[in-house]
Amino acid sequence: MDWFHCNQCFTRRGPLFAVSSCGHVCCEACIKSKQCSVCGASCRYLPITDEMKPQEKVFFKDPVKLIQSELQHISQIALFQRTQMERVAAHFKHRSVELERRLKEVAEQGYRQLSELKRENAALKKQLSELKRETAELKKPLSQRRVSPGQFQTDG
Ligand SMILES: [Zn+2]
Ligand SMILES: [Zn+2]
Repeated sequence: MDWFHCNQCFTRRGPLFAVSSCGHVCCEACIKSKQCSVCGASCRYLPITDEMKPQEKVFFKDPVKLIQSELQHISQIALFQRTQMERVAAHFKHRSVELERRLKEVAEQGYRQLSELKRENAALKKQLSELKRETAELKKPLSQRRVSPGQFQTDG
């Protein structure tokens, strides 16, 4: 970190640095207890170590790297959400295909039944007209019938 130095003696080397509650960075040699050696304000010091809390650590990280890691995090979130949406879309697409297939099946079944009924209706119409003809024949006086009663006689 190029910018990192003691605000009092401006050294960049040392085993321990601390940041004061008034926002000044001091090396171990420049730290005074309960008072900032830079501005003189009464303050507390936070040692700059790996044990700092994440919200404290970010102040000492490279902003470019912060943005990169944040972007990576955001892209993970976006990927997660896209996967979820794709899953839902795939489900509805599958269901739509299934419904279309069933609709086609039902329609074909309907057409089959309709043509069967048409065939049956034609056969019944034919039977009806035959029966009408037979009835008309039976209503005629015996003398006018084309078939003479003798033909119906059986032996005995
Ligand atoms: Zn110093
Ligand atoms: Zn200060």
